[in-house]
Amino acid sequence: MDKSAFLEKVREGADLIKMHIELGHTIRLISHRDADGITAGAILAKAVAREGANFHLSIVKQLSEDIIKDLARENHKIYVFSDLGSGSIKLIEDYLSDATVVIADHHPPEDGEITQENHLLINPTLFGANSVRDLSGSGVAYFVAKAMDKKNMDLSPLALVGAVGDMQEIDGTFHGMNLDIIEDAKSLDLVEVRKEIRLFGRETRTLAQMLTYASNPELPGITGDFRNAIEFLRSKGFDPDMKYWQLREEEKRKLHDALVIHLIKHEVPKEDIDRLIGDVVLIKLYREGDPRHEAREFATLLNATGRLNMGTLGVAICLGDEKAYNEAVKLVEEYKKEQIEMRSYLIKNWGSAVEKEHAYIFYAGKNIRDTMVGIAANMAINAQLASPEKPVIVVADSLEDEELVKGSARTTERALAKGYNLGDALREVASVLGGEGGGHAIAAGIRFPKSKIDEFVELINRALGKQLKEKREQDKS
Ligand code: C5P
Ligand code: C5P
Ligand code: C5P
Ligand code: C5P
Ligand code: ZN
Repeated sequence: MDKSAFLEKVREGADLIKMHIELGHTIRLISHRDADGITAGAILAKAVAREGANFHLSIVKQLSEDIIKDLARENHKIYVFSDLGSGSIKLIEDYLSDATVVIADHHPPEDGEITQENHLLINPTLFGANSVRDLSGSGVAYFVAKAMDKKNMDLSPLALVGAVGDMQEIDGTFHGMNLDIIEDAKSLDLVEVRKEIRLFGRETRTLAQMLTYASNPELPGITGDFRNAIEFLRSKGFDPDMKYWQLREEEKRKLHDALVIHLIKHEVPKEDIDRLIGDVVLIKLYREGDPRHEAREFATLLNATGRLNMGTLGVAICLGDEKAYNEAVKLVEEYKKEQIEMRSYLIKNWGSAVEKEHAYIFYAGKNIRDTMVGIAANMAINAQLASPEKPVIVVADSLEDEELVKGSARTTERALAKGYNLGDALREVASVLGGEGGGHAIAAGIRFPKSKIDEFVELINRALGKQLKEKREQDKS
C-alpha cells in the first residue's frame, strides 16, 4: 500500500480535529460496537481529552439514516466516525453537510467519492490496503491520534486489541501497517509479541477449557468435548487445570507439538494447522492471568460488552476503569457459554440449512442472537459443516424490529480467490430487498425484511454466481 499517501490523509484529519479543538468545539465521536470500534473510540476520546477538549462519544451497532439524522440535530461543528462511515458516505454528506466530518475507517467504501470540501475520508483501502489484514478501524484511529500528538503512541496496545478483535492476524501473523503499530508499541516497551497458541483463554481458562473452546481452528475430537480435552492433556502429561500462561517454555513447546501432531493425524488442512500457533500480543501494563494481558482475551471482553449494548462500558475498560473491568468480566462467562451452545445448535440443526450453488443460508429465527450470527457463520466453516469454498450466511430475527432479520456472511481466502466478494454481494442484494448491507470481501452483514427470506436466498445465490462469472471472464482476457 501507499503508506505515505495514507499518512498524509491521516495528517489532514488530525489537523482538522485539532483546529476544532482550538476553536473550543466539542468533538462528536461515533464508533462501531465491536472490539475494533470500541478501541477506536477509546483511542480518539483519549487523544481529544489530552488536548484539553470535550468529546461526546457514542458506540453504535451500525449507522442508519435515523442515527445520522439524530446526529445532525445535535448541531455539532465536527463529527468523527471510526470503524464505520465508509458505507454511509452519501447519507453523511446529505445530513451533515454543514459540519466538518472526519471518517476514520477501514471498510471498503461504497461507490461514490466524497464531494464535500469539509468532509474527509481516511481509509487505507483507498491506498491499496486489504481491509481485513493490513489495518483495522482502531489502527486508523491510532494513526490519527499519533498525528495529533506523538505521546498518543502509548495507545498502540489498544489499537492491537482492535486488530485482533477483527481477526486481522487470522492466518497467524500480522500484516501491513499493523506491523508499524507493533513497532511503536515495542519501542515503548508496552507489548511483547510471541509465537504461542492463538486459542482463546491464555490467561483465564484452564488448558482443558482452552482446548474445549477451540474453534479457530477446531481441534477434531476435542473441541466441544470437555472429557476428551482432559484425556488428551493427561495423556500428554499435562495438568488439565493449569493455565497456558503458567506453563514453562518447554512445556508450551511440548503442547504445541502434541496439538500439531493431533491435527496432522486428523488430516486438518495445512492452512488451519498453520494458524494454531502464531502471533500473540501480550500487553505489559497488565499482569499474567489478567484477561487484559493478552489481546484476544481483551478483545473478547470488549465484544461481550458491545453485544449487550454496553459498548461504553468497554470504552471505560480501555481507559483503565477498574470498576468497569470487574463488571465486564462477569459478562464474558455468559458470552462464551452462549457460543458453545450455539455451536451445538448449529451442528444439530445444520440439516435445515439451504445449500445453493454459491452459498449456504441458515435461518435460525430466534435461536441465535442477531449479534452472534457472524460468529455462527465462522463456526459452521470451522466445524466443517460448510465447505470453506462456499460462503455461509446465517440469518436471525432482529432483536430490535420484529419485521426485520439480520444476516452475517463469512467465508475464507479460498473462496475469495474464486471471485466472491461478500460485501459487494450483500450491498447489491440489500438495495433490491429494501434493506442495508455491505462490509468486507470476506465478512459482511445485511438487514432486510423477514418476509423476504426466500427472495434473499435466490438473490444472494445469483449475485455471488455473477461474481464468479465476472472473475472467470476477467481471467480469460
Ligand atoms: O465475526 P465477528 O465480527 O462477529 O466477531 C466479532 C468479534 O467477536 C471477533 O472478531 C472476535 O474477536 C470476537 N469473538 C469472540 N469470541 C468468539 C468469536 C468472536 O469474542 N468466539
Ligand atoms: O466491523 P468490522 O470491520 O469491525 O468487523 C470485521 C469482521 O470481520 C469481524 O467480525 C471479524 O470477525 C470478521 N472477519 C472474519 N474473517 C476474517 C477477518 C475478519 O470473519 N478473515
Ligand atoms: O475471538 P475469540 O478467540 O474469543 O474467539 C473464540 C472462538 O470463536 C475462537 O476459537 C474462534 O474460532 C471463534 N470465532 C469465530 N468467529 C469469529 C471470531 C472467533 O468463530 N468471528
Ligand atoms: O454485521 P457483521 O458482523 O456480519 O458485519 C461484518 C462486517 O461487515 C463488519 O465489518 C461490518 O461493519 C460490515 N458491515 C457493513 N455494512 C453493513 C453491515 C455490515 O459494512 N450494512
Ligand atoms: Zn473493524
